[in-house]
Formats: sequence, C-alpha cells, structure tokens
Amino acid sequence: MGIIVVLKHWSRRKGFTGWKIKEFLSSSLLHCLNPSHFRSIHLFTYLQSPYTSVMEPTIFHKIRDREIPADIVFEDEDVLAFKDIHPKAKTHLLFIPKQFVESIAELTPESAHLPGLLILAAQHYAKEKGIRGYKLLFNVGKEGGQEVPYLHLHLMSEQSA
Ligand code: AMP
Repeated sequence: MGIIVVLKHWSRRKGFTGWKIKEFLSSSLLHCLNPSHFRSIHLFTYLQSPYTSVMEPTIFHKIRDREIPADIVFEDEDVLAFKDIHPKAKTHLLFIPKQFVESIAELTPESAHLPGLLILAAQHYAKEKGIRGYKLLFNVGKEGGQEVPYLHLHLMSEQSA
C-alpha cells in the first residue's frame, strides 16, 4: 500500500500520466518490488484508474523529452520555448512548462504558478530580443481552440526576433 501512495505523489509531482508510470514501473521499479506487491488489488486498481489511463504523450511531451525535433529558442529549469511550426505572425513562439498540465482549465493550487512562469519567460525572451509589442494567448479546451492538450502560451508579434 505504502509504495502506491508514494508512487501516486511522485508521479503527480512529475506530471506523469499512465504511460510514464507504466514505463517507470517496468524499467526501474519491477526489480525492487516483492512479487506480492503485484498481487495487490491497490496497484491493479491504481493502474486501471482514470488518472493513470487518461492520455498518451502529446507532441509537446515529445518535444520536451527531445523525442522529436523542434526549433527551441529558450530553456530554463521550468520552461521550454520553441517556434510554432505553423506561424500565425512574424514571430510565433510556444512556451510550455516542463511540468505537465493539460490546460488552464486543469490548474490546481499546486500548479497555479505555471502560467506565471510562462509569462515571465516570454517577457524575458521578448526583452532580450528587443520585441516591444506582442500578444500572449492561452487557448483553453478544444472548444477554445486548443489543439494540443499540454498547457502552452503563444507569443505572437509582427516584430521579428
Ligand atoms: P493550440 O491550438 O493553442 O493548441 O496551439 C497548438 C500550436 O502548436 C499550433 O499553433 C500548432 O501550429 C503548433 N504545433 C503543432 N505541432 C507542432 C510542432 N511539432 N512543433 C511546433 N509547433 C507545433
């Protein structure tokens, strides 16, 4: 039981969803678990729960994890920014938190600071590049025009970076 609670907290903190937990279990944890753990109904229930089975990695997970290429323009401990592949302005960048959250609609008190980090990173980038005027945009949910279910901030400007 204890290990499940630890695993739940750890994966929530990391923003890991089902696929990552399963990956982690099979790569790192299997050999340290006693076989009796696998008979645990709790582990089985947890792995079957909606939280763990919600989604596959998005394109932005793969960019964050360097599994697919992107034109990365900024990175720090918490944020990654890259050029939008279909720019709708002269400069069109996407800022994502390294910690996964699906969208503004899914923010919790624990993740509420993430949009602020994205805005600060965008402000920093714009200052550095001498971009004086720009638009910042969060699309929220499919009906709000959000195509990629990974929190991201659009920075758009008619000035070039
Ligand atoms: P949204 O509609 O707010 O979810 O915005 C998603 C944005 O991601 C769109 O503007 C896409 O052009 C952009 N996009 C999709 N795939 C990639 C990719 N592989 N690299 C960079 N930008 C992408």
